[in-house]
Amino acid sequence: MAEILKNWIGGTWVASESTTNEPVYNPATEEVLALVPISTKGDVDRAAHAAKAAFETWSRTPVPRRARVLFKYQQLLVDHWEELAKLVTKENGKSYNEAYGEVQRGIECVEFAAGAPNLMMGKQLPDIASNLESGMYRYPVGVVGGITPFNFPMMVPCWMFPLAIACGNTFILKPSERTPLLAGRLAELFKEAGLPDGVFNIVHGSHDVVNGILEHKDIKAISFVGSQPVAEYIYKTASAHGKRVQALAGAKNHSIVMPDADLDGSVKEIINAAFGSAGERCMACSVVVAVGDIGDELVNKLVEAANQLTIGNGANDGVFLGPVIRGAHKERTLKYIEIGENEGALLIRDGRKDAASSGEGYFVGPTIFDQVSSDMKIWEDEIFAPVLSVVRVPTLEEAVEVSNRSELGNGACLFTKSGSSARQFRETIESGMLGINLGVPAPMAFFPFSGWKNSFYGDLHANGTDGVEFYTRKKMVTARW
Ligand code: NAD
Repeated sequence: MAEILKNWIGGTWVASESTTNEPVYNPATEEVLALVPISTKGDVDRAAHAAKAAFETWSRTPVPRRARVLFKYQQLLVDHWEELAKLVTKENGKSYNEAYGEVQRGIECVEFAAGAPNLMMGKQLPDIASNLESGMYRYPVGVVGGITPFNFPMMVPCWMFPLAIACGNTFILKPSERTPLLAGRLAELFKEAGLPDGVFNIVHGSHDVVNGILEHKDIKAISFVGSQPVAEYIYKTASAHGKRVQALAGAKNHSIVMPDADLDGSVKEIINAAFGSAGERCMACSVVVAVGDIGDELVNKLVEAANQLTIGNGANDGVFLGPVIRGAHKERTLKYIEIGENEGALLIRDGRKDAASSGEGYFVGPTIFDQVSSDMKIWEDEIFAPVLSVVRVPTLEEAVEVSNRSELGNGACLFTKSGSSARQFRETIESGMLGINLGVPAPMAFFPFSGWKNSFYGDLHANGTDGVEFYTRKKMVTARW
């Protein structure tokens, strides 16, 4: 019988009051790794109580002392890097190399947060009028709730809780019920680093926990990352309950390849961006737009490169493409491949035929459609799987137009040798994170992660100084002496 996970409340493991559990699978083997409790609003209330009590002292702990805990935490995460990466691969399915890189991205967030004494500084103007001074001071907002997706069990929670906590807040994390294991290690190591009990809490579960967090009167701010419909729901519900919200949503990222691009270099980047992490990245490339007469050569090279990819259990050496997260997600992906065929797109590489796709594990091989147009569902919807669409257009203007037709605007890339094409792309594309001659333009922890349009709901993005603004509130003091 697999272990039933517990919630982490007040610095210790606490059983959920719920008797409903869901299996957590290794998606490469279908082995049940644990059972995750589908916790209740009562469990959320218990965590909120602990977090509110801890806020009293943590918010008043001097900022350099808080930062010192973050420094220690950073070292512990570095010491446990391999263990954490293996756990990511086990519960998520991505290759060990990808998981190792993900852990690095998480550690970078902790490094940024350790700069809290600098980040928390206010501003003063000694003479706003004669004998009148004004100053701005920063304070934490209170208890913060974080709700995260399955695809980055290390990195995405680390976008939230290290910075929120460094700023003096206390935190309740609701990890994805499909990848809940890593969060537990993050909590234990934070305690080992010296974090006081109750500052960081975890409540496992799904909708009830999320709604409990959104409605709870003692939770003041919500950070969310996940799919577009849920992000919209979180934004509307949390705002209606008077909370500040940042909700990062889904993506349909286009990569435009110009006739003057280095085709081999572009293909290498696009293959990594489309099929790395089985296409389950919010920065995945899901549409390639071939400009001018390079279409045939580009698709031939893409198919050739996709044929070389090793598919299998991400824990094994040399594997590039692991499984998708669940059997249901595999079924959904296969449906989309059928839809693409029925819509008249040209299936030039069929991932259903790859050997791994028929054994145990939720594998789908790299799949490529050519002759896709923006009236097709496979162009419009986020499939979130190793399925790449190729659209062909005559000019850069039309390529940008195709990309801008999407309601999502997380990322976009351009492959070119021309500075003026790069400038035109930068100025006209409606996406928040751009790449020039690279496939995955994910900003590092000290910059905001800034999707546009329906890829983001809120004002202040995750990470960087946006994150500091989000996790703090200001007092303005004007004084005459
Ligand atoms: P998801 O929206 O299904 O789940 C995200 C979180 O919301 C989970 O914790 C889940 O338990 C909860 N949730 C799901 N449905 C809910 C509902 N109806 N009510 C309340 N809570 C609910 O997302 P996912 O499948 O775990 O992750 C993949 C999605 O996340 C993709 O759309 C991807 O693009 C997006 N994502 C976006 C970014 C970004 O930076 N914009 C980063 C990573 C992932």
